[in-house]
Amino acid sequence: METKNILINNVTLLGSEIKRGSVLIENDKIMDVTEKNGQKDADIVINGEKKVLSPGLVNTHTHLSMSLLRGLADDLPLDTWLNDHIWPVEANLTGEYCYAGALLACVEMIKSGTTTFNDMYFFMDHVAKAVDEAGLRGMLSHGMIDLGDEEKRKGEFKETLRIIEKCHDTAEGRIKVAFGPHAPYTCSEELLKEVREKAGKMGLKIHIHVSETEFEVQQVTEAHGARPFEYLDEIGFLSDDVLAAHAVWLSDKEIEIIKENEVSLSHNPASNMKLASGISPVSKLIDAGVNVSLGTDGAASNNDLDMIEEIKIATLLQKVNKMDPTVLPAEKAFEMATINGARALGFQDVIGTIEMGKKADLVLFDMKAPHLTPFRHPKSHLIYAAKGSDVNTVICNGEILMQNRELKSLDETEVITLAENAAEELLSKA
Ligand SMILES: [Zn+2]
Repeated sequence: METKNILINNVTLLGSEIKRGSVLIENDKIMDVTEKNGQKDADIVINGEKKVLSPGLVNTHTHLSMSLLRGLADDLPLDTWLNDHIWPVEANLTGEYCYAGALLACVEMIKSGTTTFNDMYFFMDHVAKAVDEAGLRGMLSHGMIDLGDEEKRKGEFKETLRIIEKCHDTAEGRIKVAFGPHAPYTCSEELLKEVREKAGKMGLKIHIHVSETEFEVQQVTEAHGARPFEYLDEIGFLSDDVLAAHAVWLSDKEIEIIKENEVSLSHNPASNMKLASGISPVSKLIDAGVNVSLGTDGAASNNDLDMIEEIKIATLLQKVNKMDPTVLPAEKAFEMATINGARALGFQDVIGTIEMGKKADLVLFDMKAPHLTPFRHPKSHLIYAAKGSDVNTVICNGEILMQNRELKSLDETEVITLAENAAEELLSKA
């Protein structure tokens, strides 16, 4: 294979030991990070002046194809939103619709600086096709729901194993597959135990929603005589390969359980605020030593996939919740959206920082904008002032996916038309 070099010169670096200098990419990896400007004979040389280079953002909880349902039902509580609006439409989903929604989400993620995401939904082989074409890195899981029905349970395992067989470790290693039991209130104990056993044997991650609403905590407590994380601990489900999304309603004992089992969390502040689910005790969790990452959730409850916006919401929500401006400072919030996300997916040695030997998943922000002037405090600007649309160039696995805001891997106009048509058809069926 012919070697391909990309050199980014004279750039301000975040998520790196070096604050300013150059980064050399060779094929899919970061080959050098130095304080000096590199040699000019690379295949592609990018001038990083008045730009900030960050590790690609990691969105640890989303449902890509739900971007087709954006704006469908706003201003409702979670159970009404799901039962009366989302689930009836989802009953008519097909692989083609999921592919169109996932492609749209990929365009949105690239344009706002996300290079890695953790997705749970349906028709995941069609989602994988979109991710492969987009050039992004993703962990995919088929959302399993059995509601105690044995036939349903068998079907969910059959589909999960089919997706693992077909998609795990494909697209030059960019796509991984995880088990995706939906939640402790939609999955039986039998299903959860079987997932636990199979994931351990196969060395795969588990992606699950836990304690999103107070109602869920009541339901689980009534059914099992224990709060959700206590119940999951009792049945031996929790381990360091579990990534739990939301984790809004937690007792002190549950925080201890999460910490002891080294479970990673995905905090989804915009979705939790919009559905009025509650406020996750993120600063307390971080103080307790829990790995807390950041996710947008699906575009039907956010209503976008912009991680730059999510970072700001996360910090502001913790500050006002604690009535303390010092909690969740910019540095911690930045880690949540990068290295903590990588750690939650088991990718901490592969992505999440700008370091020699890691995969070249990098995002270049253009700081030549009035809302980012004066250009003096890059991390502060990224957390508190920047917009997803300030992303100028995106590189994933050494491939340029967007340069100067122009998509390289996908045709943006074509994807938007495809998604418009798919949404129109799908919504007309409900
Ligand atoms: Zn979710």
